[in-house]
Amino acid sequence: MNLDILPFEESDLGFRPGAEARATTWLEKLFLSMVGIGVLVFCVSFLWPGSLGSSWGGWLMLGAAGLGSVGYFLVSYGRTTPGIKNHGVFHNGAFNRGAVGWLLGITFTAFYVMLYWHPSSLEGPIRLMDPLSALLAGQPADQWFLYGSFYTFAVLVMGVRMLMKYRHNNYQIVRTLSVSFFQLGFGFAIPNLLKKMHQPDFYFTYFWPLKPDYLLPFDYVMGAESSIWAAEVSGFSLGRFMIIWGAGMTFVATPVLTYFFGKRWYCSWVCGCGGLAETLGDPWRQLSDNSDKSWRIERWSIHLVLVSIVLLTGFMWMNEMSGRAWLGNDGSGLFWKSYGFLIVMAFSGVIGVGFYPLMGSRVWCRFGCPMAAILGIFQRFFSRFRITTNGSQCISCGNCTVYCEMGIDVRAYAQRQENIVRASCVGCGVCAAVCPRGVLRLEGGPVTVRFEGSDNPLNDLASSLKKW
Ligand code: SF4
Ligand code: SF4
Repeated sequence: MNLDILPFEESDLGFRPGAEARATTWLEKLFLSMVGIGVLVFCVSFLWPGSLGSSWGGWLMLGAAGLGSVGYFLVSYGRTTPGIKNHGVFHNGAFNRGAVGWLLGITFTAFYVMLYWHPSSLEGPIRLMDPLSALLAGQPADQWFLYGSFYTFAVLVMGVRMLMKYRHNNYQIVRTLSVSFFQLGFGFAIPNLLKKMHQPDFYFTYFWPLKPDYLLPFDYVMGAESSIWAAEVSGFSLGRFMIIWGAGMTFVATPVLTYFFGKRWYCSWVCGCGGLAETLGDPWRQLSDNSDKSWRIERWSIHLVLVSIVLLTGFMWMNEMSGRAWLGNDGSGLFWKSYGFLIVMAFSGVIGVGFYPLMGSRVWCRFGCPMAAILGIFQRFFSRFRITTNGSQCISCGNCTVYCEMGIDVRAYAQRQENIVRASCVGCGVCAAVCPRGVLRLEGGPVTVRFEGSDNPLNDLASSLKKW
């Protein structure tokens, strides 16, 4: 069959890029076989725990799947010309909520359910991670080590795909390198090395309110003995440093950096959740709902979560300062565990990642993340960041709207020649990367000329609140 006459590329689970329709080469097949071996090792260890040697099984699983995926993306994208690569996306069942998409969604969701509520079912894969855990954390693996390893693996491997897919765009290259670096170093290596030193596994890139326990008076999940407040290394109060770091990032760095760069400094360059969405989630970004209805839901839901965590933190501090007379010994713990179950596990984990193939890649960031809510308020009213639109060049192709993972109707702004200053925009820059006419630019500039009313942001904030 002459593949050159196909209107779009043939499908192979859709991770194949490019405008050029062509047959799979033997080298690509070889790399895909390696991925298959990695998946097979995982399945065997999952179904028959202990059947594979724990000293080599994990290395084989990660090594084969990692090398195979990276090799495949390099060769496959390397055969295409740099540029926009979304041909055939809506003809592919993996990416248009077809059968493969549903299968992947159910698989991701089932993994999260097992991880949170039935970790013993993952005993086989967990044991495969023992050698890596011993090396990094100095102890046998548990389900969180397995999760952290898979998470980092996904960001790095799919990061290579991003680098190849968007190699025509410097912003995407730098941004992808940044999230990969922060996930590998600050989201995985440092917390595990801290564990090896018998210290709390602190994440220096997560702050209150996304990581609310870092500003609570007590570790309600683990108990006092593992609280970061008590951490100490050779007389140096590491715990105090961690608390000051977290508070400084929340109350000083967050407003200052958001003023200069918008929320992208965190959501698209640093955050682990954003990192996963931008790498693993990229193939499904077009599934984000961009209707007005979802915008209305989003504004309520994300701010409700923010209000909940502010109240929760306040309650806990008041209870602690009252000698636990107010809510009792267990009262605050119950509040915290409810938040942990509903928001952290069910919302950010199961729905936030499990539903990538069904609802797009930023469900959690858009509808639930309290950090994104705060950053969004700063970005909307007190930031230099904006996306400018050279509307006279716009051909209304709609690429920007389709591939906006936050469901923003970018094309409508371009057609009106208006700056985009939406609170939800994470500054991923993909709208600009897929625009064939170079209409969109991510820029900084004076706060006062971003939109009508921006010379008096407090007034604008007050009228926005009144509209609710
Ligand atoms: S408007 Fe553009 S930069 Fe903002 S979230 Fe959407 S695609 Fe990303
Ligand atoms: S991608 Fe560019 S040309 Fe197409 S609708 Fe958006 S702004 Fe206009």
